[in-house]
Amino acid sequence: MTELAELRREVREVCRRWRADGRYRPRPDAWLRSYDPAFSKELAEHGWIGMTWPERVGGGERSNMDRLVVTEELLRAGAPVAAHWIGDRQIGPSILRHGTAELQDEILPGIASGEHVLCLGMSEPEAGSDLAAVRTTAQRADGGFRVNGRKIWTSHAHHATHSYLLARTDKTEKKHEGLTEFVVDMTAEGVSVTPIVDMAGSHHFNEVVFDDVFVPARRVIGVEGNGWRQVTEQLAYERGGPERVLSTYPVLEQLLSGGVDQDDGLLAELGELVSRLATLRSLCAQIAGALDAGEAPMRAAATLKYLGTDFEREVLEFARRATGSGVVPPDSPLGEAIMAAPGFSIRGGSSEVLLSILAKQEAQ
Ligand SMILES: Cc1cc2nc3c(=O)[nH]c(=O)nc-3n(C[C@H](O)[C@H](O)[C@H](O)COP(=O)(O)OP(=O)(O)OC[C@H]3O[C@@H](n4cnc5c(N)ncnc54)[C@H](O)[C@@H]3O)c2cc1C
Repeated sequence: MTELAELRREVREVCRRWRADGRYRPRPDAWLRSYDPAFSKELAEHGWIGMTWPERVGGGERSNMDRLVVTEELLRAGAPVAAHWIGDRQIGPSILRHGTAELQDEILPGIASGEHVLCLGMSEPEAGSDLAAVRTTAQRADGGFRVNGRKIWTSHAHHATHSYLLARTDKTEKKHEGLTEFVVDMTAEGVSVTPIVDMAGSHHFNEVVFDDVFVPARRVIGVEGNGWRQVTEQLAYERGGPERVLSTYPVLEQLLSGGVDQDDGLLAELGELVSRLATLRSLCAQIAGALDAGEAPMRAAATLKYLGTDFEREVLEFARRATGSGVVPPDSPLGEAIMAAPGFSIRGGSSEVLLSILAKQEAQ
């Protein structure tokens, strides 16, 4: 058995054991909706968080291809991975790429051990697609910065130990300049979190208010004022993983294990979905290869997210037709996926915005 196949088998075994013990129920969109710090800690013990990072900061010095195998298997199993997903996927790699050694030593070991839960303070009420319009400010103060502003749709801020924060440190005419990235303690004085409940009644995202919060200077990620370039690179980590393809995998799995009428037309459509999945997986592997080569593959990641969320939506449309049932129970994998689906093509950059990014890059 190759090393990758052995790794795949080990991850499957951990998920199988947790399921057999009744410790989780496979769910669609588990990377956002299924939160269990104990599960994340078990993955950490296997070395499956921060896998590609240096040993110095608790990492495993393995390849992005290894990491892809682990993330694919966790998503296929609908496992409860939300506690470590954001730190492992994008904030950790971004701190490694741009942060000082001091910041790396302070934050990364806690992510890799499953102790730190990171949330993502980017979007604001009038700064989502137009992210450079953020109005949260970070003003120089003795030894650091004072942060004031409001973030919205912040997934898992109510569990988070730390927030990534994009804030304006300089008011310039050019909105893409004067932005800076920080890591903020969620226990700092002046941070408050209010739940936002989605249409399915789930609480996963929040509003976060920063009221004169002091952030030490050592918590700046990278270069002050360079936040725009850094955040656009970070979005490649956010968009370029298999979670943009596999959010509806538990539904597809049910269809594949006999959930479709033996109708030639339907079976052919199911086969087409499976072949699209194979193509998207190979794009994920290409992105992992580019990351191993030290690149931030922004264009491939935007392509994957656009095509992947389209695929996820079509899996659901097909499932509704193929199962022929008029009423979908809300707590079934299909019901849960239908309620989560409107967010797929919005979070991490909406499909329209991704098309516009790709068109601009094509024109360059
Ligand atoms: C489930 C979920 C979880 C999220 N978690 C987080 C999180 O943890 N942290 C965080 O910071 N944010 C998070 N977000 C926010 C997400 O990043 C934003 O919702 C997204 O960037 C869109 O911004 P907006 O909601 O302000 O919509 P808008 O930017 O107002 O867009 C509304 C509509 O207009 C379209 N549109 C906007 N501008 C253009 C344009 N120039 N050309 C064509 N069409 C356009 C968009 O495509 C969209 O259809 C989350 C969102 C969801 C749904």
